[in-house]
Amino acid sequence: MTWEERWHPLREEWIIVAAHRQDRPWSGNTIAADETNLPDYVADCYLCPGNPRVSGKVNPNYDQTFVFDNDHPCVSEAADAELSAPPAIYKNRPAHGVARVVCYSPKHNLTLAELEVDHIENLLQVWQSQYAELAARADIAHVLIFENKGVAVGVSNPHPHCQIYATNFVFKTIETEARVSQRHLLETGRVLFQDILAAERADGRRSLIENDSAIAFIPYFARYAYEVFVSPKQTHPNIATLSAAELHDLAAVLKTVTVQFDNLWRTSFPYVMALHQAPTDGADYSGFHFHIEFHPPLRRPNLLKYLAGPEIGGGNFLSDTSPEEKAEELRALPIVHYKQTSER
Ligand SMILES: [Zn+2]
Ligand SMILES: [Zn+2]
Repeated sequence: MTWEERWHPLREEWIIVAAHRQDRPWSGNTIAADETNLPDYVADCYLCPGNPRVSGKVNPNYDQTFVFDNDHPCVSEAADAELSAPPAIYKNRPAHGVARVVCYSPKHNLTLAELEVDHIENLLQVWQSQYAELAARADIAHVLIFENKGVAVGVSNPHPHCQIYATNFVFKTIETEARVSQRHLLETGRVLFQDILAAERADGRRSLIENDSAIAFIPYFARYAYEVFVSPKQTHPNIATLSAAELHDLAAVLKTVTVQFDNLWRTSFPYVMALHQAPTDGADYSGFHFHIEFHPPLRRPNLLKYLAGPEIGGGNFLSDTSPEEKAEELRALPIVHYKQTSER
């Protein structure tokens, strides 16, 4: 048994690694996992092509990706500019911003793992143009692009899609990453994420896959059992400046990572995926290295990692697994999706 704490250099916090707890008796709730056999079109799905949404608008018969303004935005350009002032030390302001939805494909059942690499490349181009358009706006301080995938993370509609929150503030995790990255650059002259990449490649035990310009690994300081970072090798503060070749390589690595996720338990693997990109508030973020983080909530088939006392109560993660073992497990999996290899 080992009791170890690992420093998370991007979040500036400790992770408690107690991998020996993995096998402790467990009688917690399990998650039903029948998200694997869906039809490719569903008549009452508000994301399928040609279908009406709650707003009354009708989706076009799109044939690749489809972007639209969220019908239930959590931030809005119509946010009331005249809020009543709260008492004393409190403060408030309008939740101003833009919320969009990006459907990955017209097919209701085609997840990222099952898209062809060139289709993923197309999706990356959409992310590039969305980021560039929203980043150019003076009222937007940050563009968060993320996908919630699976019932385990609370998704009610399985039609593969991601969301964009372009906000008048910078999300906490990004704010921290941006601050420590810039400080690291000032102190050492180096990009913090490049130091992380160098450490990961020197060790190698947590590496998953790499090609000419993109790489995937479970970081030393992972908080979730199957937490995976995917990034270009060259530093770009955001996705917008990646070359066509870099986009292609990134798409190929994303494909392999998500296929191996699905192959792990031969089921559609749930996760929260977030693009970590530099804020767009005009400050200097040359030390920020764009990367994609996957935070899968399951640590065993159908078994959720519950956030409890240490995480919710105290604010630091307790990891029940060893990142080295989990990387070995993922790396050993086939890189062809199980649905393509199974009998049918
Ligand atoms: Zn659908
Ligand atoms: Zn990050």
